[in-house]
Order: sequence, then C-alpha cells, then structure tokens
Amino acid sequence: MADKFDVIVIGAGPGGYVAAIRAAQLGLKTACVEKWVGKEGNVVHGGTCLNVGCIPSKALLEASHKFVEAKHDFDELGIQAPDVSMDVTKMMSHKDKIVKNLTGGISGLFKANGVTSIEGAGKVASGKQVEVTGHDGKTTMYDADNIIIAAGSVPIEIPPTPLVEGMVVDSTGALEFQETPKRLGVIGAGIIGLELGSVWNRLGSEVTMLEAMDDFLPMVDASIAKETQKILKKQGLDIKLNARVTSSEVKGDEVVVKYTDANGEQETTFDKLIVCVGRRPYTKGVIADGVSIELDERGFIFVDDQCRTNLPGVYAVGDCVRGPMLAHKASEEGIMVADIIAGHKAEMNYDTIPNVVYTFPEVAWVGITEQEAKAKGIDVKVGAFPFAASGRAMANNATEGTAKVIADAETDRILGMHIVGQHAGEMIAQGVIAMEFGSSAEDLALTCYAHPTMSEAVHEAALAVDGHAIHMANRKKRK
Ligand SMILES: Cc1cc2nc3c(=O)[nH]c(=O)nc-3n(C[C@H](O)[C@H](O)[C@H](O)COP(=O)(O)OP(=O)(O)OC[C@H]3O[C@@H](n4cnc5c(N)ncnc54)[C@H](O)[C@@H]3O)c2cc1C
Repeated sequence: MADKFDVIVIGAGPGGYVAAIRAAQLGLKTACVEKWVGKEGNVVHGGTCLNVGCIPSKALLEASHKFVEAKHDFDELGIQAPDVSMDVTKMMSHKDKIVKNLTGGISGLFKANGVTSIEGAGKVASGKQVEVTGHDGKTTMYDADNIIIAAGSVPIEIPPTPLVEGMVVDSTGALEFQETPKRLGVIGAGIIGLELGSVWNRLGSEVTMLEAMDDFLPMVDASIAKETQKILKKQGLDIKLNARVTSSEVKGDEVVVKYTDANGEQETTFDKLIVCVGRRPYTKGVIADGVSIELDERGFIFVDDQCRTNLPGVYAVGDCVRGPMLAHKASEEGIMVADIIAGHKAEMNYDTIPNVVYTFPEVAWVGITEQEAKAKGIDVKVGAFPFAASGRAMANNATEGTAKVIADAETDRILGMHIVGQHAGEMIAQGVIAMEFGSSAEDLALTCYAHPTMSEAVHEAALAVDGHAIHMANRKKRK
C-alpha cells in the first residue's frame, strides 16, 4: 500500500514546487510528482521556468547584452576592447550550468522541507487519488486528501509552420542554437519572441519578426509600447506588424516563409525560424477518463478565484489555469492554495501582477494602461519622466526610455505603472507594492528616493502626476 498524503502536487514547475514547499512548511504531509527528464536523463524539477523558460532565456539575454556592450558601447566609456568575440558553445554551457544548479536546488529544498519527491507522470484518478506511472511503466496509486494540479503549458504549434528539428523551432529549440544564424525569422513579436529575437540579434543575426497583429505589445501602455518599438528597431530588429504567416518550407539548409501583409503575398528566406506564437495549457494525461474536472473553452482547467476546480479537494494553479502565463503568478497561486488547504485565509490580487519583457532596455508594467482607463470610463491623470533627464541613466549610458504613473483623477490612487528603461523589471516592484497598499501618486511623490538611482524616474513621474516634477518642465502647472 503506497503512502497517503495530505497534499499531492502534480508538476514541479514554479506553481507546483512552491505549493509543495509551502504546504510542507505548514505541517502538511506533501508529495510532488514530476515527470520532466533533463538533459542528463534524470527527472528534474523546476518545470518550464527553470529548464526552458525564464532562467535559460535570461542567461542568454544577459550574456548577449554584455557582448553588445563590450563590442559597441565600451569605447564611449574609454574602455578599449578591440577583439571582442562570442563563443556560443561556451555561452550555452554557462546557461546549462545555471539550469542544472537551480533544478538541483529544488530537489535540495524538497529534502530540507520534507516534501516527498515522486518521479513519473501523475494522473488525478479520483478526487482523492493520484496514479503515478513511473518511467519504467509501473503504476502506483497514492491517496491524498487534497490534490494540486500544476501541469503547466507547452508552446503552441501552428499548421503553416510545422517544427523541423534544428531549423524551424519553438522557444525551447531557440535556446539551443549552437551557432548564430545569419538570417533569423521569428514568428510572433510577443514577450518570448522579442526576448529570443533580441538574443540572436545581439549576436549578429539579421532578425525579422513577423507579427500577425496590427498593434505592437498591445498589453503595454501605448506610448511606452511605441517608444519600445522604436528602440528595438534601432537595435536592428525588423518588426513587421500585420504580417500573417501562411507557410514555411525547409529547402536544403534554408527556410522559405510565405506571409501576407498590407501589400499582399510576400516570401522571405531564413537560415532558422523560431515559432513563438504563444503557449497552451498542458493537461494531457493529467485527468483520468471519468474524472469530471471541468476545462474552459480554451482548454484551461476551470478554477474559481482561489484556484478550486469543480471537484472538491482538487485545485489547479499556474499556466494550466486562466490568467497570465507567468512564473510569479503560478508561484503566488501555489502559496495561496497551500495556505487554504492548511486552513488559513488566503487570496490573491490579480490586479497587481507585474509583467516584464527582458529586452534592453527592459519593459515592465503593472495595472491598467491609459487606453484601458479610457475604455472603462475611468478619469485618470498621468505623470511621465524620461530617463534622458536622469543623472543615473546618463552615468549608466542608458538614457533610453520613460517611467509613467497612471493615477485615478479623483482619488489619486495609483492604477498603473509602465516603464521602459534599464532595470525596469526591478523598478516595477515599486508600482506593485504601491498598488498592493492602495497608495496614491502623492504617497510615491512624498517618498524619499536614493540618489542617484534609476528609480528616481519613478519618483519624478509620480511628482509629474500633479505637475510637480523637479527635473523637467511640467506640462501641468502646480496648483
Ligand atoms: C522562453 C520562455 C521564457 C519565459 N520567461 C519568463 C519570465 O521571464 N518570467 C515569467 O514570469 N515567466 C516566463 N516564462 C513563463 C514561465 O516559464 C511559466 O509561466 C511558468 O513556468 C509556469 O509555471 P507552472 O508551474 O504553471 O508550469 P511549468 O513551469 O510548465 O511546470 C509544469 C510542470 O509540470 C510537469 N507535468 C506536467 N504534467 C505532468 C504529469 N502528468 N505528471 C507529472 N508532472 C507533470 C511538467 O513536466 C513541468 O515540469 C517564460 C516561458 C518561456 C517558454
């Protein structure tokens, strides 16, 4: 008879492993089932995020950014580095080393917290049972008072561009190129596409991005998105909007791509093609036939605000449920669910989930845009401050970008913050905390910021909401 647990978590990505650790910390007898087999043939924890997502992509973004700085920007600072070159294989092994350290770290955290690690594919067999099929094909049934499904997501494949190993790849394949392609096509100018396109553009690829939508980064405030598009274009990313790919064909060592745009049918040729058109929830094999856990119309596991499925005692978190597909959203849901199972009151504020695009400069935002405010009939006041006027940005040689604060016109409460600029991903935490505590723009304006910092731009933007910015001329007059 296999062990009985208070909680069994299926999936050890940031949703699942965090839920498991929290549940164990709260005294619940917890197991986490994971099936992902890593490069070395053993089961690895960390899911998409640690293995093929957030972390490996940031390792390549950081390396490629340093390369560009050394090659193009050092000279202006008086640093002579005439023979800078990139060893892609070494960059990849650096990335692999980080992934190995971090995934191994989760196993260590499981041990330290008393989480039982079960290797294999987990399936909800009933509201209180999980069947695990090991990699040897053997099945074991485990009893659990509570089950958390954290099965994550996988890249979407589209019929016009079938994957061809090493030539037409998804985001996972794009993290494994062993040399810089001369001509690189990226289908989809969303967050992941922009990050991967940036990596290879910095290393010398001619990058063309084909995006079916008319708008660039439509979820970002329009003025910040426009500025970002201009900056990325200057870096060499050829972003074609309203370009709908109709086919791709591998011919020898080239990929021929056809697409339609405002001028009709177009054809172009690349050495490699990355298909980055989004991700879909991964629920294959996670729910046994006859177990009536509801999915929504898009295939996500249907959950309420506290991640309960329709089956009592069964919860689902992360990419396999509604909401943004982000590691930190998955983790927060995991914590909330573990707290609820342990009998604590817990809820999550979905209005304050930050988003970051790790291009250079980074783009980060939380809350609503000016356009959303208008569409919802909310009267807002806006303050913006350009990094071009920031002393620290000048010293950092990183003057591109703007920080923008959006506040309710009547109450002054902060409703959104949007930043494009160096370290925007770090700065946005101020907006998140401010919104979480219901702060007004004046609260930020009255806060003492360290000088010189990039964050002072946020301070100035908050001051500018009421026409009080110090280091630029205010459009609005101080009352
Ligand atoms: C290239 C790329 C870059 C990204 N960058 C960022 C970023 O910078 N910031 C950010 O917030 N997000 C980023 N993301 C998204 C982020 O990786 C996901 O939102 C996050 O990993 C979701 O966590 P999760 O736990 O829900 O699912 P996952 O991380 O997908 O984990 C699910 C786990 O469940 C396991 N599993 C599935 N079914 C079973 C089963 N039946 N039995 C056992 N195990 C199972 C899977 O093997 C996997 O390990 C990125 C994604 C990609 C692809």
